[in-house]
Amino acid sequence: MGKTWEQLEELQPVVLKMLRNSLLKQRVAHAYLFEGAKGTGKKDVGLLLTKALFCESLIDGYKPCETCHQCRRINSGNHPDVHLVEPDGQSIKVDQIRNLQAEFSKKGVESLKKVYLIVDADKMSVSAANSLLKFLEEPGAQTVAFLLTEQPQQMLPTILSRCQILTFQPLSPNVMVNQLLENGVHPQKAYILAQLTSNLEEALELNVDEWFAQAQNIVVKLYEGLKKNRLEAMVMLQSDWFQHFKEKEQLHRGLDLLLLFFKDLLYIQLEKQEQIVFKGEMERLKQFALNTSGRRLTDTMSAILEAKRKLDANMNPQLMMEQLVLKIQEGSTFV
Ligand SMILES: [Zn+2]
Repeated sequence: MGKTWEQLEELQPVVLKMLRNSLLKQRVAHAYLFEGAKGTGKKDVGLLLTKALFCESLIDGYKPCETCHQCRRINSGNHPDVHLVEPDGQSIKVDQIRNLQAEFSKKGVESLKKVYLIVDADKMSVSAANSLLKFLEEPGAQTVAFLLTEQPQQMLPTILSRCQILTFQPLSPNVMVNQLLENGVHPQKAYILAQLTSNLEEALELNVDEWFAQAQNIVVKLYEGLKKNRLEAMVMLQSDWFQHFKEKEQLHRGLDLLLLFFKDLLYIQLEKQEQIVFKGEMERLKQFALNTSGRRLTDTMSAILEAKRKLDANMNPQLMMEQLVLKIQEGSTFV
């Protein structure tokens, strides 16, 4: 079963409001382009709208009932007048669009209405795109197209100009936390993940990623090393940090986690404990927070951000981390 109107409204309030108005005024466009990052709900919204177009007993005049014959068949992916086109390997090929057209030249199997969704529409080959273009130029009276893409800049302007374009926003940290909890992610992890990415799929992958689980432990361990003395921290860099954070991307992830850790300490000092993301470390964080000042914490956070910039500028990671450790120690974040 697909997501309900209420669930998707939480994800994409602006898009859903727009679509609700179109449904209520019976001004649904012939072609929509949904653009936005992975995991922002484009396909779910496409299917929701499709149900709204076919549903036999709309709620409040726009929400699909989810229980009628039409809604159920769309949810199960086998409605004869609803077609889904996805890349066949690396691209969407011209034959896939031709098949779609052939399908549409027949009368609607059960009504005049027909809907198609093209997932990753930017992956259409040039001939597929041109073929689709002709199709968009002469829409059947009751045909609705949903083109979904993460990369609208890679699509033909002639196609874009024939679509109503709706932009799907990245998920806010609060929405992400809710989504993650709904997906069974442990609260202790959900808050950290929501700070690291606004991409739901990526967050869910990280959640079950052994490397990521270990990364959090190493960040806490580095903090403990820093707290003891410079030598401990330097030894820890060699024995743990660089063994785990090898690639540039991984180093960024490690620094992001370190940044969140210091941010948590700051939240404790500001008595905003509900904002803490390392929820599993709450007791230790409280202890740590006693030994430092807000000023030092913000200095340290600036130093971490500076280290991330150096990493992007291709500074040697070894040197970058050593400088960071010295900087944190110098600023004597720890008394
Ligand atoms: Zn229905």
